[in-house]
Amino acid sequence: MGRLKIFFRELALYGKAPELKLFWLTFGLIGILLMVDVFFLPIFLIWVSIILFLSVMAIISVSYLKIARSNQETKIKSRELQSVIENLDAGIIGYDPNFRIINFNKTAENIFGVSAQEIIGQYVDPNFVKNPHFRQLTQVVFPSLAPVVNVISEPSVWPQVVDITLEEPTRELRTALSRLTDDKGNLLGFFKIIRDRTREKSLLRSKSEFISIAAHQMRTPLSAINWAFESLIKLTEDKERLETMKSGYEAVQRALKTVNDLLDVSKIEEGKYGYNFENADLGEFIQTILAQFKPIVQQYQVNIYLTLPKEKLTVRIDPQKLSIAFSNLIDNAIKYNVKNGKVEILVEKLENQPFIKISVTDTGVGIPANEMEGIFKKFYRGSNVIQLEPNGSGLGLYITKNIIQQHGGKIDLESVPDRGSTFYFTLPIDFSLIPTKEVAGEEP
Ligand code: ADP
Repeated sequence: MGRLKIFFRELALYGKAPELKLFWLTFGLIGILLMVDVFFLPIFLIWVSIILFLSVMAIISVSYLKIARSNQETKIKSRELQSVIENLDAGIIGYDPNFRIINFNKTAENIFGVSAQEIIGQYVDPNFVKNPHFRQLTQVVFPSLAPVVNVISEPSVWPQVVDITLEEPTRELRTALSRLTDDKGNLLGFFKIIRDRTREKSLLRSKSEFISIAAHQMRTPLSAINWAFESLIKLTEDKERLETMKSGYEAVQRALKTVNDLLDVSKIEEGKYGYNFENADLGEFIQTILAQFKPIVQQYQVNIYLTLPKEKLTVRIDPQKLSIAFSNLIDNAIKYNVKNGKVEILVEKLENQPFIKISVTDTGVGIPANEMEGIFKKFYRGSNVIQLEPNGSGLGLYITKNIIQQHGGKIDLESVPDRGSTFYFTLPIDFSLIPTKEVAGEEP
């Protein structure tokens, strides 16, 4: 009984659906045939015909209702999707493999100043770039036509994430391109999600400018105080006074280091850190840096070991910048170590990969597991080190990561609390993997 009720309810609901047209036609035809039967057939056969008629109609109606229901569901889903797309605060452009625009939402209309009505159904062609009205849209569909492009994702990884800077008017966009395929993997089209980051970037720039100006203002008086302490230390013979001056001198040195780190961060975020690459012997480069650590190694009483491969490894680096990155890692491995602890530096060529891997392993306090994710963020300081080493800016690893990335490498770590940490990074030996343009640094 319940099923019959549902059947009639659905018939009432979808009765007028186009899918049921054929059903009503068949219904009419068989009905006429039945009426003709009534006049010509004996009573027994009339009953047989009626039963046959009802069964055929039941089967046909059930299958047509199924089709109508499933079509209705598909329609609802597609409307839902369309309304989500329409109301997204990111721009969406959908197009087929021939670059015919199929979808263009409201946010895309606002970003490009082009209406969906005029662009949907059009084949976007690189030549559209000559038309000022379609210029920016064409540059986003074909990023090679844009003035500045930074590919963020790995090649051939989907979605492909690309940062695009457009001019007149200036726009900073992050685009993510995805492929649409059918069940068999055949390409149906593409859709591009566009996030307008112009305002966000300009806020970041003004924040960065503020930090940069403040740091510059502080650097001059700090340098003067630093110089004054240096001179006074040379002149003072009184032991007690000398101690006080030395601690004052150390405090100024730390303040100067933080100010310099802040300046580096603001330059990194503006993409103006400035790299000068040259070929260098990696072994020699590392040994020169380690020599500078002798005093601090003695102060913290740790032992440093270096393992280099037999072959000479030539890398293409900015020695000044990479030395900041590498020194940060060594400095941390010493500072966050235990008394008589070890720091091991291992340099190895990766098998079947165009990279050299450099690992810095310590036997120190390690990093709490739940804090590992944020370690490369600006101002991050581990909850387990604040007491051990109260002086630290939390900027070193942020700067280090950016420098390594700018060298075409990657940095990561492994750590066990109270056992130690290994920070490792790669450097390419295939120099074409080094980014040709400096990318403005961002929070990881
Ligand atoms: P800083 O050393 O000035 O605090 P960094 O950016 O170099 O800044 O390091 C950020 C934080 O990461 C440190 O404060 C510390 O908590 C953690 N850290 C970095 N290196 C190590 C290490 N080798 N062992 C343990 N903790 C580390």
